[in-house]
Amino acid sequence: MKNLPFGRPMIGDEERRAVLAVLDGPTLVHGPRSHEFEASFADYTQAPHAVSVSSCTAGMHLVWFSIGLGPGDEVVVPAETHTATAHAVELTGATPVFVDADSPAGNVTIAGIEAAITPRTRGIAVVHYLGEPVDMAPVVELARSKELFLLEDCALAIGTYIQGVHAGLVGDAGCFSFYPVKHMTTAEGGMVITRHADLAERLTRQRAFGVDRTPGERTVPGVYDVTMLGFNYRMNEIQAAIGIEQLVRLPAFLSRRRENFLVLLDELTGLEGIAILPASEGSLQSSYYCLAAILAEPLAKRRIELVEALRSKGIGTSVYYPSPVPHLAYYRQKYGFDLMSFPAATRLSGASIALPVGPHLEPDDMRFIGHAMRTATEELLG
Ligand SMILES: *Cc1c(COP(=O)(O)O)cnc(C)c1O
Repeated sequence: MKNLPFGRPMIGDEERRAVLAVLDGPTLVHGPRSHEFEASFADYTQAPHAVSVSSCTAGMHLVWFSIGLGPGDEVVVPAETHTATAHAVELTGATPVFVDADSPAGNVTIAGIEAAITPRTRGIAVVHYLGEPVDMAPVVELARSKELFLLEDCALAIGTYIQGVHAGLVGDAGCFSFYPVKHMTTAEGGMVITRHADLAERLTRQRAFGVDRTPGERTVPGVYDVTMLGFNYRMNEIQAAIGIEQLVRLPAFLSRRRENFLVLLDELTGLEGIAILPASEGSLQSSYYCLAAILAEPLAKRRIELVEALRSKGIGTSVYYPSPVPHLAYYRQKYGFDLMSFPAATRLSGASIALPVGPHLEPDDMRFIGHAMRTATEELLG
């Protein structure tokens, strides 16, 4: 039987050698590799500043913490996202104000964001859903006019561009994830990019306890002062060594994703009962994280059977995301959201299947998946 998982980390000899070289040396944290990885990532995205962190979630929490977000403040957050986008706000004591996924690609719209703004709003978090860019120009204008901090959750947006600018640089800060099934991995890990030198400096201090000098800057080893509150959100040298190698291979990963997506799109176009979430090319450029098939009724009710039929042929799938964040128990209980709210996000969570297009797969695999989808949906529709 075939084995086509939804995601599989692309770890090769380069990564293995790089990790062993770290283990053979004296420095596991605070070393040259995290700086090299930051420089390479900055170069790749054309970011003026890149700060490595232990995860995307840590990066987002760190950013909100660094700008002093706290109780009484509100941040506009998409309903259809990873819980991390909302948790990062919630962890500071501030309140996430959720916005439905009204655009055809499952993103928030400017109208939705505008309707969520109150006198307490201090920031906007946008998420490039499945790597498809948010239409940022009106969001940037709104954020400027109201002096709101604009954070881009770029966990699925390595390779996403907005008018030629890499995602994460349009707003005030962009946070990336190197979790195993994302576009590239460091096992766990993240990166924050920003145009603001002062913010980058604060993030660098506060990801490491708020100390005033790094080990390299200390004249007497072990002697430092602490000038602000901070976390331990650093990336270690093993992660950074993997990241450096992954970044070299990233262009090949991205072009394979695009190729796979287009082959699978071709296979599925016109299939009864399913619609495909659009992924755009050109001035708004998708990173092709996956292909999301939205099932129409009566197929939508039988989504689990479809997932099972694909699984029986060795095809892995996923759901992005299992539930709108405000419907997750923590948020529902705390803020009292009812399950009829956020209908667009509810439909994406309840009626979509994410199909794999990652670089671990070949165009021939896409034809196999397309065929399996055709057979299974025809059977289910009787
Ligand atoms: C995966 C994901 C995250 C979390 O990333 P971590 O690196 O695991 O913290 C955050 N936001 C979105 C949109 C994601 O898909």
